[in-house]
Amino acid sequence: MNNKLYGNLIFELSKAGRKGFSLPKNNYGTCTIPKELCRQKEAALPECDELTVVRHYTNLSNNNFGVDTGFYPLGSCTMKYNPKINEEIAAQPQFQNIHPEQPTETTRGAQAIVSLLERSLCELTGMAHFTFKPYAGAHGELTGLMTIDNYHRSRGDFDRKKVIVPDSAHGTNPASAAVCGLEIVEVSSRADGTVDFEDLQRIVAEQGTEIAAMMMTNPNTLGLFETRIPEIARLIHDCGGLMYYDGANLNPMLGACRPGDMGFDVMHVNLHKTFSTPHGGGGPGSGPVGVREGLQSFFPFVSPYHGNFGVMMRAYAYILSLGREHVKEVGPLATLNANYIKACLKDVYELPIDTVCCHEFVFDGLKDKTTGVTTMDVAKRLLDYGYHAPTIYFPLLFHESLMIEPTENESRETLDGFIAVMRKIAEEAKVSPEKVKSAPHTTPIGRADDVLAAKHPVVTYRQLKSEA
Ligand SMILES: *Cc1c(COP(=O)(O)O)cnc(C)c1O
Repeated sequence: MNNKLYGNLIFELSKAGRKGFSLPKNNYGTCTIPKELCRQKEAALPECDELTVVRHYTNLSNNNFGVDTGFYPLGSCTMKYNPKINEEIAAQPQFQNIHPEQPTETTRGAQAIVSLLERSLCELTGMAHFTFKPYAGAHGELTGLMTIDNYHRSRGDFDRKKVIVPDSAHGTNPASAAVCGLEIVEVSSRADGTVDFEDLQRIVAEQGTEIAAMMMTNPNTLGLFETRIPEIARLIHDCGGLMYYDGANLNPMLGACRPGDMGFDVMHVNLHKTFSTPHGGGGPGSGPVGVREGLQSFFPFVSPYHGNFGVMMRAYAYILSLGREHVKEVGPLATLNANYIKACLKDVYELPIDTVCCHEFVFDGLKDKTTGVTTMDVAKRLLDYGYHAPTIYFPLLFHESLMIEPTENESRETLDGFIAVMRKIAEEAKVSPEKVKSAPHTTPIGRADDVLAAKHPVVTYRQLKSEA
């Protein structure tokens, strides 16, 4: 552990009597809180001077990695540039300070933004209506599947309880179907990474009357464009099912083609991915669900009020700042960047599917399999060179998946810098594999036990815990 960087907890820096802030004189009259609700002894708050507090939190923030500190090629998550103007607009007090319980006539501006954003999304996706209530993509999937379930039930079609999901799908797809009480039927992928149409035909022939929906991501999680969507949609529609589009990979399609035109009936958009909201560490997100005409009356109740308005503001600012003309450039630039990195690295990293990709692609570890250096080791070593690691061990189709998504705004120099470091690590794996296997060497924490951290998280401070 590097103590200078990692430091102590603010409680450990506390010295009795130190002050960095004085509360204003109490002008609120006498306290009317019932005695039994008041604490019996003083809260154990840290006592620090202003400089200590400022330095403590500034140093902590420097230990964070974000799109504002370095290249962040995390596949499947679309960690793209978030224009700062979005933040300024979303932070304006007339938007930030509104409350969902306010009288409707005092929030007309916010309502107008929601409906203008809905119109933009309809135009970009080919859907007819959107609900903005879901708080993220996974929540959108659940909302969309509940919509589909409601639709089938409304027709007295109670036997449709199966959802077809490709084996390359993001884990949230089968998870959402399961939470919705639906059964998952997996369709396999062909050697080229796209959905196996013959396998799908077999499933539909055997279980067609029980199929509620098919979920697809396009481009899929390998970054490959599924070219047989119209045929797939016809097959599913003919057996009475609906087509669900997982919109997490909408980035490369923006302004070029639309899920609604391909035959999808229901979809979600990850506003925080495609439409630029910084979303590390689990939030904030927004996963609006779009449907074709006629399905909007089947939207379920999934959250109170109007969803995550701040993320909607940022998305609308992003769309307006690009405009109809420039939104079309996002996809081609993201695609160019991904193909450039792939072409420059495929002689040293294993490329299991060597075709033109869209916005992201997947390596299967190092090409040289004799070094003992794994994808995990490469990811950790990248941290030493100041890069966030790509997505690792997803999709599950390969043993050593390393999934790279550079997004549209990265410069040629940034991509070249990343490529150089990836090549350097491949070289190190040959000449000094131990150095790569024991990485990272420069971060405050080395290899955390992520199973332990997930199973037994310690999120409270001892001193406070013993007080309780
Ligand atoms: C990110 C992602 C999801 C889930 O979206 P969240 O907004 O993280 O809940 C679903 N599918 C794919 C392909 C994704 O990349």
